[in-house]
Amino acid sequence: MTLESLSLRCGACGHTEPLRSLAWRCAKCHGVLDLDGFAAAPPSLTDLAGRGTSLWRYREALPIAEPGDITMGEGMTPLVGAPGRPGVTLKVDHLMPTGSFKDRGAVMLVALAARLGVARLMADSSGNAGTAVAAYAARAGIACDVYVPADTSAGKVGQLRAYGAAVHQIPGSREDTARAAALAAGEPGVFYASHVYHPFFVHGTKTYVYEVWEQLGGRLPDTLVLPVGNGTLVLGAHLACAELLEAGHIGRFPRIVAVQAAGCAPLAAAFAGGSPVPANVGTQGTVAEGIAIARPARGAQILAAVRATGGAVVTVTDEQVRAAHAALARSGLYVEPTSAVCWAAIEAGEVEPAGTVVAPLCGSGLKSKPPVM
Ligand SMILES: [Zn+2]
Repeated sequence: MTLESLSLRCGACGHTEPLRSLAWRCAKCHGVLDLDGFAAAPPSLTDLAGRGTSLWRYREALPIAEPGDITMGEGMTPLVGAPGRPGVTLKVDHLMPTGSFKDRGAVMLVALAARLGVARLMADSSGNAGTAVAAYAARAGIACDVYVPADTSAGKVGQLRAYGAAVHQIPGSREDTARAAALAAGEPGVFYASHVYHPFFVHGTKTYVYEVWEQLGGRLPDTLVLPVGNGTLVLGAHLACAELLEAGHIGRFPRIVAVQAAGCAPLAAAFAGGSPVPANVGTQGTVAEGIAIARPARGAQILAAVRATGGAVVTVTDEQVRAAHAALARSGLYVEPTSAVCWAAIEAGEVEPAGTVVAPLCGSGLKSKPPVM
């Protein structure tokens, strides 16, 4: 497989562009683009024996070769038991190089940018995706602009600046930031390294499930509980399950239960109402800043993916998130509030019937505003 054989295809109208076009959405209908011309060949447990302990161990399932000078050993984060719940396992993804699971997708985007000879890339983010892209861009020697909401945590903004990114703090909502980024993305020669729009990102996040499958000895749990805002982890998880099933490495799909913050829940509202597209909701603000996404661009794909697994989209209140955040910290796991939403949903009984469960701890608590104790 070569990059030249890959293309970007609009799911809505079928329009295609070469991968190297740097297109970030469909030129004809503004639909989202998916990767075309790539067939993953997931390695077996036997194939994997003795390989290096980064996500690049799944190389036959990834659309680009390991970028030897860019990788920081991302992936293969530990599984740990959850406090007081024997059936629940937590995956400690905040131990990634920049402190969040977003490194899984960011390394794919920057590897692609380096292969295409891009001189400048840009990203927009509520914080973690931007810091991940900025870190790998720094490592690749590619200039990087990051657009973030003005109220993004000081820890994340400081981290972005430390990586040498040009930080653009945009007043207003997360959607205002996305609009400012989309405007800048239209400039010639700019690679919009978007964790939402570029399909390479989801091929990185899918390694979360590949690792769970391998770490559980070639099995997946009954239920994957995942936070959902723009849905990069849900879509990556769904893609991984489909690839593992197709390869005969698993016998059935796990349920995917996706968790939103009650203060910003367009997908939960659509799920409850039986709608195929995200509901038109306002944002009341939430402590779970990483998933406060009122208009997820891949919302229809997320809803279809969750429904296909027999799963659900559920909500938790800020009060439940704060309590879950504190409970995790008291068991030694210091994550950002957004990363506590899955634990909050499990504790609230929103995941029943759960069976065996794996949930991620997505982002480090060291990056967020300290909680009020
Ligand atoms: Zn289209």
